[in-house]
Amino acid sequence: MVSQEQILQWLQLFAREIEQNKAYLTELDAAIGDADHGINMDRGFKKAIAQLPTVADKDIGSIFKAVSMTLISTIGGASGPLYGTWFLRASTEVAGKQELNEQDLLQLLQSGLNGVLSRGKAQLGDKTMIDVLSPAVVAFAQVVNAGGDTVTALQQAVTAAEQGMKNTTPMLAKKGRASYLGERSIGHQDPGATSAYLLLKCLLVVVNG
Ligand code: ADP
Ligand code: MG
Ligand code: MG
Repeated sequence: MVSQEQILQWLQLFAREIEQNKAYLTELDAAIGDADHGINMDRGFKKAIAQLPTVADKDIGSIFKAVSMTLISTIGGASGPLYGTWFLRASTEVAGKQELNEQDLLQLLQSGLNGVLSRGKAQLGDKTMIDVLSPAVVAFAQVVNAGGDTVTALQQAVTAAEQGMKNTTPMLAKKGRASYLGERSIGHQDPGATSAYLLLKCLLVVVNG
């Protein structure tokens, strides 16, 4: 089970993680984009965290919805609407809930991914955050469908996410700004895939205690 309190802790931890990796994410984006991914994410999640007190006694769906609205309105780049959509779709799966079991988490991760897929139209292998979010859901589902618990499922999801992040390096970008570079996008890790890995890693850290 993941409690509402752990969800709040996760968002706070992720905001800190982004702050610590702000320069790194921006450096990754400098190689194949416009050098603002760390700045965008830091701005968006700082604002989201600042607004958490207004939803701290609400259900998990309401918390995600508030985060979503803040990200969409605060982050100018592609990552704002994409992460915003992830949290918005996730919020509808967990509306009214104060805690999440492994099935709830699976639904949340699946819906978040579906939201990003329909919003961004990227496919697996296009060198985007999808290359992390998608294998993570597959790995999570495998454990849950075999009767495994949340921690085990998240561990497998994070392992798959890390591999997915590394797999973006040799890829040719087909979506987003990096795609403007064509062949020159090859050989660089995708910034959005990297922040998506951090998002899942932080959830595991909080849930694993
Ligand atoms: P921008 O590219 O507008 O400056 P960011 O730098 O904040 O925005 O985010 C770039 C990241 O967004 C990329 O590294 C990639 O992972 C992700 N991204 C871009 N376009 C898409 C898309 N269509 N679908 C999924 N993810 C995308
Ligand atoms: Mg950018
Ligand atoms: Mg930008």
